[in-house]
Amino acid sequence: MSSNPATILDLPQPGWAGDDVAMLYDMAVKFLEAEIAPRYAEFERAEIFDRESWKKAGAAGLLCASMPEEYGGSGGTYAHESAIIEAISHVGVDGFGIALHNSIVAPYILHYGSEEQKRKWLPRMATGELIGAIAMTEPGAGSDLQGVKTSARRDGNHYAINGSKTFITNGQLANLIIVVTKTDPAKGAKGTSLIVVETDEVDGFERGRNLDKIGLKSNDTSELFFNDVRVPTSNLLGNDEGQGFVQLMQQLPQERLQIGATAIAAIERALALTIDYVKERRAFGKAVMEFQNTQFKLAELKTEATVGRVFYNNCVERHVNGGLDPTTASMAKYWLSDLQGKVMDECLQLHGGYGYMNDYPIARMYRDARVQRIYGGTNEIMKLLIARSL
Ligand SMILES: Cc1cc2nc3c(=O)[nH]c(=O)nc-3n(C[C@H](O)[C@H](O)[C@H](O)COP(=O)(O)OP(=O)(O)OC[C@H]3O[C@@H](n4cnc5c(N)ncnc54)[C@H](O)[C@@H]3O)c2cc1C
Repeated sequence: MSSNPATILDLPQPGWAGDDVAMLYDMAVKFLEAEIAPRYAEFERAEIFDRESWKKAGAAGLLCASMPEEYGGSGGTYAHESAIIEAISHVGVDGFGIALHNSIVAPYILHYGSEEQKRKWLPRMATGELIGAIAMTEPGAGSDLQGVKTSARRDGNHYAINGSKTFITNGQLANLIIVVTKTDPAKGAKGTSLIVVETDEVDGFERGRNLDKIGLKSNDTSELFFNDVRVPTSNLLGNDEGQGFVQLMQQLPQERLQIGATAIAAIERALALTIDYVKERRAFGKAVMEFQNTQFKLAELKTEATVGRVFYNNCVERHVNGGLDPTTASMAKYWLSDLQGKVMDECLQLHGGYGYMNDYPIARMYRDARVQRIYGGTNEIMKLLIARSL
């Protein structure tokens, strides 16, 4: 059994969706089913997507949907980005790294970039010519971003960037990377600055290996090395140096919400696939669905998925209206990704041995889910942030 489009299309659509968001969701599902799903196994084996798929997504309007039209985008909001993210997980092509490009990288340029920077980068991000990444994590600094060591030393009208990053999503394909640097190491967080590196235009930039992960195989994740990489000082995001930490804190809530979007959509897909499976699979002369244990498990999971969906939709509504506080965004990231892990585990169990076979989508969904509790700030860090608000 592969994915079941009829079931997927029956899934609840975003509750806050206006007609244009619902239309974008439908269009994204159709595009992903026609263009990406048939080649997804190939990308999983290659452990990377091809650039062509990005360009096709750009042509179909799935890149930079929330960027203003004057910069090549579609003029939407986070609700539109959410529709695309949910379509990706509903169709089951979770390794397609456009969500990070769209709703994390592009917004930094929109919110902190100069007019010149926006005109230079956003239109090419909207076509897929530029593929975005954000490089925060280093071998010695993950949860504790204040420990970033990558330095950007000013030299006339250039910065010389030195350091290394790891675990960077889209790291092999990206040619526009927002690098978290220290422009003034003595000042700690206040010496942090975000600098854009267009990799095609610099010397001294190297990609390490495409890291060997347990899940999200088709999404490339890399080490990156900066050896005296010189970029113009005009590549700094924001008017002044030292704004990087504040910029990160302002943007991380949307990144966390986006992880919640992936979680709730994957939960819904897993449930749809599992309900289909247990209705067909027979044991002891009846469908597995007829065992009371199956019914109770699925009743519990469906209830939790519904609670999760209502919470997620409420977060989106608040975010689109400018009222989502960082604490609630942390709750969404932590709770929905935890629930995703639980649902994948229970749904795999209901598939029996077939659930452990890669022929069945639930096997991959189980592996793909695990990282959701780690990246974007671990769930332990989310709890720290929530606790601080108490
Ligand atoms: C597939 C993948 C993709 C990623 N993509 C990106 C990307 O695109 N860009 C990017 O910059 N990074 C990315 N990351 C990195 C990710 O954000 C970090 O792995 C994450 O923030 C955790 O950092 P760490 O791995 O250094 O773990 P550590 O910080 O070493 O944490 C180890 C453990 O200690 C716990 N811990 C740490 N501090 C505390 C504390 N104060 N209290 C309680 N517990 C604590 C953590 O929760 C964790 O369980 C990615 C990671 C993965 C696996």
